[in-house]
This record gives sequence, structure tokens and C-alpha cells, in this order.
Amino acid sequence: MPEGDTIHKIANFLEPRLVGETIIDASPARTNLSRRCVGRQVLEVFARGKHLFIGFDNNIAIRSHLGMHGSWHRYPPGGSWQRPRSQLSVALTTSNWEYVCFNAREVEVVRTPSVRERIVHGRLGPDLIADTVESSDLVRRAREILDNDALLVDALLDQRVASGIGNVYKSEILFIEQFSPSIPLPDIDDQGLGRCFETAAELLRRNLGGGRRVTRFEPDQAGLLWVYGRTDLPCLRCDTAIRGQRMGYHHRGTYWCPSCQSDGAPVTQTQRRE
Ligand SMILES: [Zn+2]
Repeated sequence: MPEGDTIHKIANFLEPRLVGETIIDASPARTNLSRRCVGRQVLEVFARGKHLFIGFDNNIAIRSHLGMHGSWHRYPPGGSWQRPRSQLSVALTTSNWEYVCFNAREVEVVRTPSVRERIVHGRLGPDLIADTVESSDLVRRAREILDNDALLVDALLDQRVASGIGNVYKSEILFIEQFSPSIPLPDIDDQGLGRCFETAAELLRRNLGGGRRVTRFEPDQAGLLWVYGRTDLPCLRCDTAIRGQRMGYHHRGTYWCPSCQSDGAPVTQTQRRE
């Protein structure tokens, strides 16, 4: 699943290429989206958490959320696509290039003021990469927004609290901070929760440069991630077998070392909302 840093990388790629360009064609044709974009000039491209916004000179923007399988591609006009047309979500053509989004979870046309409004009114929390935020503010948001039966993993993934943390970083942050993923949110103190967000922001920023995602900055070839996707493999710190299990509100794959992350609640306590 694309993480916040992925969307920022896409925005960083698209922004200098699209801003100032006029859209000469858009697909799917004869939709609200194509009618409102064709002939318009791109004014801004920005990421907000996992959402990518492409704003136009008529006060509208295309908002896309890539979900699990979405991606943006760039092709020369008339060039063949790497994906079948049936997977098209939206395509924007400029005089030089065609920018194509496949398999997005959501694509919609939004009015630009309402984008700002939604950000201001908190449907999306502060962006861990773009915004300067105090971790104490994020802790307060987590306590206000989530119910008492939430787990720490739910707080990290909730984009209303802070936008940018995806499922890979979730497990990696918990390993680095040595918290068991099954800790109920009310059982973690403000300091510990704040550290999780600080680590998240640091990892997201360190991964903006491109290349493969890295959370383990060690001078060996043992692995770029500590725990994600490593079920039954030895922990890179202590050799204990890594565990993997779905947990939290959304039953997302979660990975942890039962030795390094043994503090807090017992690791067998999961899925409190089933
Ligand atoms: Zn370990």
C-alpha cells in the first residue's frame, strides 16, 4: 500500500512537470472530470497524507487516493501503456506527455476551497512530512479522535490523527520504539506515543529521496526493514522469530518481535473489536 512518502514522491515528480501546463485531453472522456479539466491550466500539485491533489485554474482539483494497488505513470502521447485500459482511473494529457493513473481506490473532482476546508476541519490530520507539528499535538489528537478500545496500531494508521503513516511504517515504528503492537491506546503514555510520531516523521523524511524504503540503517546486507513481512524469520536484533498477525480495527497485517517488543500488554491480546 502506498505510504505517505510514496505520495509525496509522486507529487514531487508531477509538480515541476505539470504546473503551468494546459490539459488538452482527459480520460475517461465525457465525464464530469474530463469536462472540467480539459482546457484548464494546472496551478498546483500536492500531497496531503495519502491523497494526491492536482489543482486547476477553475478552482477545482482532482483528488486521488491510490489505495492498495494504484499508481501514476507517464507516457509519451500515443505511447503504449503498461496496464490495460480497463484499469484506467484517470488520464491527463498535456502537449508533451500523458499522465495516467491506474487502479486508484478513489478519484474525484473537488472544489479547491473545500480541500482546504477539509484539511482545516480535521478530516486529514497534519502531514508528517510537510507540516511542522508538535508531537504533543498529535498525541492530543489521537486521544480525542480514537475510542478507548483502540489499539496503538489504530492510532498510528488513523489519517485523521496524522497523515502519512501506512502499514509498513506502522510495524517498523513499533519495533524501533519497542512497543508491542497489541498495546491498547489508553495504556501507552503521552511520551511514548509522541515518540512514535516523531520516529514516523523522521522515517518518512529520510525516505523522500527515492529508491527502496529503508527503516533499518545498518551497514550490513541483512535487510532494509526490521520486521515488516518477515514472519518466522529471525529478528535482526535478537534472533527471536518474528511474528505476523492481522490486528486492529482494520485487521491489517502487523509484524513484531515478541522479545524486543515485550513491554505493555500481552502480545496475544488482539482485535479487541471482533
Ligand atoms: Zn528481537
